[in-house]
Amino acid sequence: MKNLLIILLALALSSCNSKEVNKIKVYGWLGGPGDSTDKEIRDEFQDLKDKGIFGLMYNGGQDPETYRRVGKIAKAVGLEFHSWIPTMVQKENPKLKPEWYAINGKGESAFDKPAYVEYYKFLCPNREEVYSFLSEMYGAVAEIPEVEGIHLDYIRFPDVILARGLWDKYGLVMDVEYPEYDYCYCDKCVGDFKEKTGIDIKAAEDPSHVQEWKQFRYELITNLVNRLSKDVHAKGKQINAAVFPGPNSVAKKIVRQEWDKWDLDAVFPMNYNDFYLEGTKWIGEVTKEGVTALDNKIPLYSGLFICPNPEKKTQENDPENHGLLPEELGAAIRESIDNGAAGICLFTPRRMTEAHWKVFEKAVKGEQ
Ligand SMILES: [Zn+2]
Repeated sequence: MKNLLIILLALALSSCNSKEVNKIKVYGWLGGPGDSTDKEIRDEFQDLKDKGIFGLMYNGGQDPETYRRVGKIAKAVGLEFHSWIPTMVQKENPKLKPEWYAINGKGESAFDKPAYVEYYKFLCPNREEVYSFLSEMYGAVAEIPEVEGIHLDYIRFPDVILARGLWDKYGLVMDVEYPEYDYCYCDKCVGDFKEKTGIDIKAAEDPSHVQEWKQFRYELITNLVNRLSKDVHAKGKQINAAVFPGPNSVAKKIVRQEWDKWDLDAVFPMNYNDFYLEGTKWIGEVTKEGVTALDNKIPLYSGLFICPNPEKKTQENDPENHGLLPEELGAAIRESIDNGAAGICLFTPRRMTEAHWKVFEKAVKGEQ
């Protein structure tokens, strides 16, 4: 017993002394592997580990073998490894029938007439076939021993309202819900809603005023998440998701995510302040909102959007090239942690400049 105490004490001391231990748990969203060699992947992962990254949300397509290969390298380096794979957005695939894609309020399919951008091919979350496809796809990845968890993304409807910072980019004023961006009006969704509530949504003068219709669609996404969660947990793996900020202030309103009701192991709200024309203080506000909504049931990691070219930010029109400047990063991290986040997640480590990393090191080690 005495020996055990000494060992425990020694372990406790050594972990305190370790330079690698951050005060703040940091994840990063990363894509790959493209045609990178194992050595190139290992060098990058080792560099990220040395800089203080704890784990990766890794986007490498849908082939389980990719995650086996890359996951093995992540494990060797000591990084936690999650497979980041979009959910409702699915490109053409022989396994998916065109009629399973979502239909907007004008009767147009996201399959051949997607909203905003070509890749916005959203599936209908109310189709049993869609659930089966997703369950099988995520299940096969979750079986890979190197994969610690499944990271859902695009687990939502298309943006019925775009974030304020994107209006200029798309030349739109989105102060109300418009039918061309409002989904899903497929026969199954309209029929199931009628059966459940007695309301014929197609006859409604303004569907955006029908609260039950909003709630019905929140629940379609919630039910899908919770079924996938059961499947992934049955394989002994974690499941978490990238979500919009909120849930109430943004996520529910613009993409119909009631994510505080989801059976997940963690959430990663994309607290991308520049998309909402907000500063770092807002990151603290939405973090607090999320943590409060979750009521401490699961950890929340605050997603931070990094500006890749800080010196050019003011001349950039495209919000995709905006993001946190090095001089804002410390405040963004502090706002997140002070308001209850369990850590942060960087979008992306590859967008970080030397100046970002300098601030980052001080902030995550609690020296600032
Ligand atoms: Zn539908």
